[in-house]
Amino acid sequence: MYKITFLILAGLLASCFALPSQAAECAVTIEANDAMKYNTDSIKIPSSCDQFEVTLKHVGKLDAQVMGHNVVISRTSDITALAQAAMQAGAAQQYVPADDSRILAHSELIGGGQSTTFTIPVASLPTSDDLSFFCSFPGHYALMQGKVVLVP
Ligand code: ZN
Repeated sequence: MYKITFLILAGLLASCFALPSQAAECAVTIEANDAMKYNTDSIKIPSSCDQFEVTLKHVGKLDAQVMGHNVVISRTSDITALAQAAMQAGAAQQYVPADDSRILAHSELIGGGQSTTFTIPVASLPTSDDLSFFCSFPGHYALMQGKVVLVP
């Protein structure tokens, strides 16, 4: 009886240690602040991941209408045109143009103190193009952007 209990405990412990490292590999947390900055300039996605989870944390205090942030993934060459389309889409659409195939994945728009998570189906990302992430809130993409790197 003791032996079985020990084995179960050992198994539980092993899975506790195994799970976080696996989750860390296919997930990332990015912070954005009231100074219009992300805390990183690159997202590395292992191509072995099926789904890659991105969590955006707005660590500032300002409201989403004033200092809203999101994460939009696209080809680097599409950023400028997409930022314009986002402005036209407006606040009602959270500055994300509907049904725009240039957007490979995106998060919700959030304000200070909030956080949001979205997943990227890794196989859907084009491997031959230079990819980036940026914030589509009007005027933010110039300061708020970085590279998305697929790691073999
Ligand atoms: Zn922003």
